[in-house]
Amino acid sequence: MARYRASVCRLCRREGLKLFLKGERCYTDKCAIERRNYPPGEHGQGRIKFSEYSLQLREKQKLKRIYSLLEGQFRRLFDRADRAKGVTGENLLVLLERRLDNMTYRLGFANSRAEARQLVRHGHFLVNDRKVDVPSAAVKPGDVITLRERSKKVTRIQEALELSQRRGVPEWLEVDRQNFTGRIRALPTREDLTMPINERLVVELYSK
Ligand code: SF4
Repeated sequence: MARYRASVCRLCRREGLKLFLKGERCYTDKCAIERRNYPPGEHGQGRIKFSEYSLQLREKQKLKRIYSLLEGQFRRLFDRADRAKGVTGENLLVLLERRLDNMTYRLGFANSRAEARQLVRHGHFLVNDRKVDVPSAAVKPGDVITLRERSKKVTRIQEALELSQRRGVPEWLEVDRQNFTGRIRALPTREDLTMPINERLVVELYSK
């Protein structure tokens, strides 16, 4: 499985936004955005002209990077959002949120979505009492995500749950940290998703 291996802080600097890709470090003054909030590279501090296309591209890259997806995975999700009823951009955001790796991150079992993806792949979670190790699996309201018995002793998951209290859990989810369990109360609406994304620009980019 291909994955991005270079410094993830460069991605935040490129977007000029904290994407929270490094867990605990993102909340400290070691965060690269706090120290060098300009694009990486030789011309990072020069003047940048934004064309309509570059604005659309940046918005797509931002969204893709928040959820730590590669281009192919992101494009397939967009195509599903486009085929579904309703507003394509909002469908896309909900499909991104429904991914199992995202939900385990939101519930606090991991410090980043990339870490959550690895934990899912390693088979640490049950969904409705059945083992699911596919990060892109889509969850639905009423689903219960539980940490497997043998995984409850994994230090990095325990630490992530502890640290996640600062981040909080969105209203559409419910977490029981004592029992390592989370429940999907509902799917988020557009108003629930507060990250600074203009999904309409992503739709425009892919509609060209
Ligand atoms: Fe982004 Fe986190 Fe790196 Fe800061 S520490 S630049 S938020 S990944």
